[in-house]
Amino acid sequence: MVTYYSRFIPDASKITYPLRKLLVKNSTFKWTKACEDAFSKLKNEISSDRILTPYNPESPLIITCDASPTSIAGILSHVLNGIEKPIAFASRSLTPAERNYSQLDREALAIVFAVNHFFIAPIHQKYYSTDIAINEVHQLCYSTIFEISTEELTTKTIVQETDKDEVLSKIKQALLNGETDNIEYTLEAEILFKGQRAVIPKMLQSKILEELHKTHVDITKMKQLARRYCIWKGIDRDIENAVKSCQNCAEVKSSPAKAPVHHWEEPTSNWDRIHIDYAGPIENHYFLIVISARSRWAEIRIIKDAPISEKTVELLKDIFSTRGFPKAMVSDNATIFVSETFKQFCRRSGIFQKLIAPGHPATNGLAERNVQTLKQL
Ligand SMILES: [Zn+2]
Repeated sequence: MVTYYSRFIPDASKITYPLRKLLVKNSTFKWTKACEDAFSKLKNEISSDRILTPYNPESPLIITCDASPTSIAGILSHVLNGIEKPIAFASRSLTPAERNYSQLDREALAIVFAVNHFFIAPIHQKYYSTDIAINEVHQLCYSTIFEISTEELTTKTIVQETDKDEVLSKIKQALLNGETDNIEYTLEAEILFKGQRAVIPKMLQSKILEELHKTHVDITKMKQLARRYCIWKGIDRDIENAVKSCQNCAEVKSSPAKAPVHHWEEPTSNWDRIHIDYAGPIENHYFLIVISARSRWAEIRIIKDAPISEKTVELLKDIFSTRGFPKAMVSDNATIFVSETFKQFCRRSGIFQKLIAPGHPATNGLAERNVQTLKQL
């Protein structure tokens, strides 16, 4: 946190020097008077008017949350001239039970804690942003396990083999200890996930291949199915070899039955295809929901006025400034999304706009579940 706000603290690097010295490799950790003084000085600086800004009901608010293995914290800020200026800090330790939460659940707890702590009504404009729709992630991971489960392949066997797997057990342990910045992996039900795909330990990979090829589908179809549910290093090559070595497939090769092509291709990268939709009004607010088709991660913006194209473009520009531009954007054909302003924005940003009939369950289901999650928060 000190690093984050160091640009507001004069001589920050000089003040922190005794503390940074403690972190030098192979040096002994000795808390001296100089360290204590530096610590007090930093505390004073962080709570001084150089860093803190008074609450202004006219300015938009941002709540930033974070969770560590032992504590959760939130910062209430205004954005002044593009710079986040904190209004207040809040944090608390986790209870022993909460320490057993997954990182995802701790992050969610931090959001609940911060929103409850800082909630000031009436607020001119509310603005929450979160990368994660917690229920959504849970649901997808559990449905993945459900889909790939067989009599031999259960949650229990995956957990056991993950813990025995040399590479995966290390990744899992680092996640459990909160020692990693690797955001590629998450833990659900003690199983490693990459996005919504379960990471399959080495010992169980042949079982998965067997399951995937049960109906003798071709390489393309197998890869497609695998991409929805599971992953391991070299999975594509293993699928190719499994099909090439299948006696049955070799025999019927002269008269292959055409495999049905899936109409809903899985995007290859997280932000390739996004789905956008508005929900609301809910308690006089409208929710712009932007969901990655692949990872199902959601970005949500809350506005007070009924949505129009111009505002939507503004919100999307803000999201894309950090997430990057998608290749395709799926929405229903509401006036907001088919106006000249909106179409022009898509054209100029190089986004392929795909319109679908209103009430499409894929988009609406996701959007509504996200709104449910937000309401619970
Ligand atoms: Zn076969």
